[in-house]
Amino acid sequence: MRLAEERDEVIDIARRMTSDRLVVGTSGNVSVRAGDLVAVTPSGVEYDQLRTADIPLVDLSGEVVEGELAPTSELPMHLTAYTEHGAGAVVHTHSLQATALSLLRDEVPAVHYQLADYGGAVRVADYATFGTPALAKSMSKALRDRNGCILRNHGTVTIGGTLTKAYNRARQLEWLCELWLTAAKLGDPALLSDAELEHCATLFAGYGQTPR
Ligand SMILES: [Zn+2]
Repeated sequence: MRLAEERDEVIDIARRMTSDRLVVGTSGNVSVRAGDLVAVTPSGVEYDQLRTADIPLVDLSGEVVEGELAPTSELPMHLTAYTEHGAGAVVHTHSLQATALSLLRDEVPAVHYQLADYGGAVRVADYATFGTPALAKSMSKALRDRNGCILRNHGTVTIGGTLTKAYNRARQLEWLCELWLTAAKLGDPALLSDAELEHCATLFAGYGQTPR
């Protein structure tokens, strides 16, 4: 079996998405790239029932090269993140706070320096129907020079060099959105300046391990 390790990692992160309450049931999807192949969650199977062989392998044009099950209907978004944004892994959630923020704002307000990990202000992509090339296009525009974006009335997309990195960005993005929503209920939140966020981004770039 090809890419057994990557396929198991996809299963592990899909299950964590559910236990960390970033999705409900089988919604959301995750993938990781290895060479010219992508291991991606299949459509409509409970994550706790997935076995290694259930994870489809597709090429970068979306053709299934191994596996019986059909890949997620959001495959166009995943492939776009690989071919246009240099992702090594992609996580798509329907997390509550981020999706709530997308109904109110065009980007995540600069509430915290952690936003620098995304390369700047995290944008909200224009709405398009799930699973369509139009949604992949809208996501791509919002993801330009960023490691994450929010899909209006839908959920989040985060990318990284590894699946763990992309997943941590999904969790962190949810926390950032919750922070703003929590403060905004009580008043007008104070925000960081663009200059300070850019300064933090340069610190992130040189901090610890490689940023992507
Ligand atoms: Zn979705």
